[in-house]
Amino acid sequence: MSAAVVTPALFPLFLDLHGRRVLVVGGGEVAARKVLALLDSGAAVAVVAPALAPALAALAKANRLAHIAAAFAPEQLDGSWLAIAATNDNAVNRAVAAAAHARRMFINVVDDAELASAQLPARVQRGPLQVAISSGGASPMLARHLREQLENRLDEALGQLAGLLGELRGRIRMQLADLGQRRAFFERVLAGPAQSLLRRGDAVAARRAVEAELGSRPTPAAGRVALVGAGPGDPGLLTLRALRLLNEADLILHDRLVSAEVLALARRDAQRIDVGKRVGGDHDATQQHIHALLIEHARAGRRVVRLKGGDPFVFGRGGEELEALREAGIDFEVVPGITAATACAAYAGIPLTHRAHAQSLHLLTAQARDGDADHDWRALAKPQQTLVFYMGVQGLARLRDNLLTHGRAASTPVALVENGSRPQQRVVAGTLAQLPELAAAHAVRAPALLVVGEVAALATRLHWFGAAPLGGERQRCPPDALARAA
Ligand code: SAH
Repeated sequence: MSAAVVTPALFPLFLDLHGRRVLVVGGGEVAARKVLALLDSGAAVAVVAPALAPALAALAKANRLAHIAAAFAPEQLDGSWLAIAATNDNAVNRAVAAAAHARRMFINVVDDAELASAQLPARVQRGPLQVAISSGGASPMLARHLREQLENRLDEALGQLAGLLGELRGRIRMQLADLGQRRAFFERVLAGPAQSLLRRGDAVAARRAVEAELGSRPTPAAGRVALVGAGPGDPGLLTLRALRLLNEADLILHDRLVSAEVLALARRDAQRIDVGKRVGGDHDATQQHIHALLIEHARAGRRVVRLKGGDPFVFGRGGEELEALREAGIDFEVVPGITAATACAAYAGIPLTHRAHAQSLHLLTAQARDGDADHDWRALAKPQQTLVFYMGVQGLARLRDNLLTHGRAASTPVALVENGSRPQQRVVAGTLAQLPELAAAHAVRAPALLVVGEVAALATRLHWFGAAPLGGERQRCPPDALARAA
């Protein structure tokens, strides 16, 4: 085809294939994928192929498709509404296309836009709601790329919302005869809590919220709070749900630990407030202030995201914030995040448990309300367990002494992970005996996480992100550790 020819765009169409015969020619993996999609749409599928791949054979055995065990012949198309040629033999695909064209039947030929009169779009599906994407054959990759982006963007709860609105469709039309009224109603529903209620698995309350909007007087928008884990810093470690909520937020209250890269992903016109606590500041006053802000803005009807570094329930005082919200009668949801322990360990190449070296994992804080943390040091001093200390940059000498006094070996490997998962990540590795000197020698700063235990030695061999671990003594990895891990 010459480049000068302007091809008109394809005409999009959604087909109701329920109970209608569709002929698929081809019995391999590619055909199987198309057959599964067709069956999802309720089509009566007939597959022409001398032999079937296992997935298709199983469907034939379960009577979910009709198998025509033969070579393709044009009359097999008779009685079908649609045909798909999915063989790896170009001549066969060509013959199927020619026969379909002769019968004025739409045909899709897998990976051959030239032969096809119908193309299957890339699609994003949420219940009855579907977004179909086509590049008109120009660049299926581009269509797929867009699909991926939409897949990330569109909440799973949208499907349920569509279902719910479908159920109420008759009532909506009857009660809101005027198009303008209906539009205003949909806007209220979309801005309201229904979607977040569905996400939380409360279909009954969601229905009630939608029905309330059906009433003639508009209810004031109910604000709500999402307590969201932002992960350790690398924006790639954000959950899809966190990303969606950041895209919907009116207001984001975040900690100092939340990285700029993560904040950059939020809706541009969302207001951002840094409510980070500083070491040495009055934490309880700050915390009360945060509770007051959350309540005030939610009451004003805003969608508030309370964004915390890592996971909100791991040393994040998330529980206290939820209690305050519950007391104030404010709606909330919680989105977990990747906590510093798992993130720093992964990015430093330290498996937190290991069949040969650690049978348990303890998440601890090095700080307590009044200075020194009060742990069961005797229990923590036992070998073959991994201790992860949050907030551990200060007080390392005391921490080491406590473990040594209670019997943990001086040679126990340790690693400090500073700015885990971020471009400036540093890992400092050594032994328990050297811990405070090690931190001082490399000027380790917050945020940093301390890993104590046999597994910490593996960082030297398994590091993959950023620079190799810095260390006092050369770390030796137990020679059989890697073999046994496999
Ligand atoms: N809720 C957070 C922890 C908050 S406490 C979470 O689940 O991760 C703050 C402590 O977390 C810091 O003092 C530090 O010990 C640790 N931390 C958080 N992010 C970190 C990072 N990117 N690198 C190293 N340590 C981190």
